[in-house]
Amino acid sequence: MIFDIITIFPHIIEEYITQGIVRIAQEKGAVEINIHDLRKWTDDAHKSVDDTPYGGGPGMVMKIEPIYKALEELKTPNSIVCITTPKGEQLKQSKVKEFSQVKDAHYIIICGRYEGVDQRVHENLVDFEFSIGEYILSGGELAALVLVDGITRLLPGVLGNEKSLESESFDNNEELDYPQYTKPEVFNKWKVPEVLLSGHHENIDEWRRKKKVN
Ligand code: SAM
Repeated sequence: MIFDIITIFPHIIEEYITQGIVRIAQEKGAVEINIHDLRKWTDDAHKSVDDTPYGGGPGMVMKIEPIYKALEELKTPNSIVCITTPKGEQLKQSKVKEFSQVKDAHYIIICGRYEGVDQRVHENLVDFEFSIGEYILSGGELAALVLVDGITRLLPGVLGNEKSLESESFDNNEELDYPQYTKPEVFNKWKVPEVLLSGHHENIDEWRRKKKVN
């Protein structure tokens, strides 16, 4: 699977993808992640990626030309072009799972900034517009990373213990995972539930089933 992320803040992405599971996934060859500075596709001295909005109003809008050129260079027949926007489909685990199962997938993710991106990009150049929740962030980089991380950890061979994927929250009927505890048994008088210390697997399974929340 390949991700190409287009951003004006490459370092934000770089920092995250060189840590944890996402780093390991790249090392294992399960995923390739390329970061692109949108300014690479500008041709003026100031490397402008934004301009004032038609019709007036506050702030700046991301221009279509650099994004168009970037896609011209990066797109392949397998590409699914995604854009981050609070107005898009709210990302759910079911969608992340679906995306993780697309064969030879190539996701291009455009990270918005400023007041957003020229609407003609949304209407003509994009396959999937997504939001990570009902709040406004200053840019799409965190949303892009949410998509990359969510998909990457589901790819075969990425997690050391794939059993952890079996009972995760939002997986079956959107139910939430059971509570987890680790050592010590007692901390500040707060005890681990007795049943988890019993070694009785049937009782433990039963307790966990009950503790899952719909
Ligand atoms: N003016 C826009 C609005 O009210 O819908 C908000 C623009 S926001 C300041 C700048 C960029 O951050 C957006 O274009 C989008 O790419 C990204 N962004 C902000 N909130 C987001 C969210 N909840 N999900 C996904 N992307 C988001």
